[in-house]
Amino acid sequence: MEQVDCVVIGGGVVGLAVARALAQAGREVVILEAEAAIGTGTSSRNSEAIHAGIYYPQGSLKARLCVAGRDALYAFCDSHGVPYRRCGKLIVATDESQLAGLDALQAHAIANGVNDLQRLDGDEVKALEPQLNALAGLLSPSTGIVDSHGLMLALQGDAEAAGALLALHAPVASIEVTDAGLCVEVGGETPMTLLASGVINCAGHVAPEIAARTAGLTAESVPPRYFAKGSYFSLAAATPFRHLVYPLPEPGGLGVHLTLDLGGQARFGPDVEWVERLDYTMNESRADGFYAAIRRYWPGLPDGALQPAYTGIRPKISGPGEPTADFRIDGPAEHGIAGLVNLFGIESPGLTAALAIADEVCQRLAQGARIG
Ligand SMILES: Cc1cc2nc3c(=O)[nH]c(=O)nc-3n(C[C@H](O)[C@H](O)[C@H](O)COP(=O)(O)OP(=O)(O)OC[C@H]3O[C@@H](n4cnc5c(N)ncnc54)[C@H](O)[C@@H]3O)c2cc1C
Repeated sequence: MEQVDCVVIGGGVVGLAVARALAQAGREVVILEAEAAIGTGTSSRNSEAIHAGIYYPQGSLKARLCVAGRDALYAFCDSHGVPYRRCGKLIVATDESQLAGLDALQAHAIANGVNDLQRLDGDEVKALEPQLNALAGLLSPSTGIVDSHGLMLALQGDAEAAGALLALHAPVASIEVTDAGLCVEVGGETPMTLLASGVINCAGHVAPEIAARTAGLTAESVPPRYFAKGSYFSLAAATPFRHLVYPLPEPGGLGVHLTLDLGGQARFGPDVEWVERLDYTMNESRADGFYAAIRRYWPGLPDGALQPAYTGIRPKISGPGEPTADFRIDGPAEHGIAGLVNLFGIESPGLTAALAIADEVCQRLAQGARIG
């Protein structure tokens, strides 16, 4: 059996950020990734927005780690040459009934430490984006977009420079808590067993499954998993917009919004569709709902302008109709097992928050196990 100090399960943006932080703190780190490449899961199926931290419940991990992660991410992109653009975003109210929602969102943002939102009237919105239909809006100057793959490569580069090793085609099958440490069974073409003093489960959608296959972890420490699919459609024509454009949030997601990629191409999405399993197939008929949702804020969207793009699936731990769960970062203090940290429900804003999540993981890993 091979011995290693720390195993990080999953080479998505969060696993790579965690591996980097641990390796830079002097720990020996092996990253086990099931697929043939890093970042093929949720980390490459999202809006690539750097969120300001506006929406999340006050005092939640999502609120705190988004604000901290956003600042850390902009600094990281500057120091590592990762492409990004601080393009700003507009959240728009399209009828009178939404105006109070806009005010409430601004107050909420301030409570979360997001103090730079600017309230705009309809004319001010039009001056920024002439094609928008809006009675009022909020401008978030600290929202941006990032090249998520460039970010992951830079995180991997830092982690490897600090001594971390990445193993691809290395799916973790199970974990056993023993007196000697955490025994990690790896399947795939080259099965192996690793004995580690630290294991950080960053397997995204599969994290609850791996937790369920951890001998020694109680069932209460494993949340249920749900899948909320989001489809994206891209705009066939050149975009008339310079900012990201969001409606007010809807249950389960942020509403069908317009994001831009760094090449200036516009895409719309994601909507919310609860599904039974991880299936990224694109259902093109969802375009009908998109035209209706987008035309509330962009009446000029031409017929036939939307092209199917891709889907992503939110790794939820709360189901339809339930309040959206916070990120769960369960360390020894939560489940009682020294050296183990499980990350559950790392949906949006997990890309923005990745660097702050990594710091949080390092702190929780250092905590002792609960007594009793
Ligand atoms: C539709 C959508 C839009 C989003 N938009 C944004 C946004 O604009 N801004 C933002 O900040 N966040 C956004 N997010 C959230 C963000 O994408 C995620 O929080 C983030 O990518 C999660 O990264 P991760 O590393 O936890 O998961 P993943 O990227 O899923 O990585 C998990 C990794 O674990 C690997 N794995 C799985 N099982 C095993 C195993 N048994 N052994 C080894 N490896 C395994 C997988 O192959 C994968 O590489 C969005 C999410 C969705 C779904």
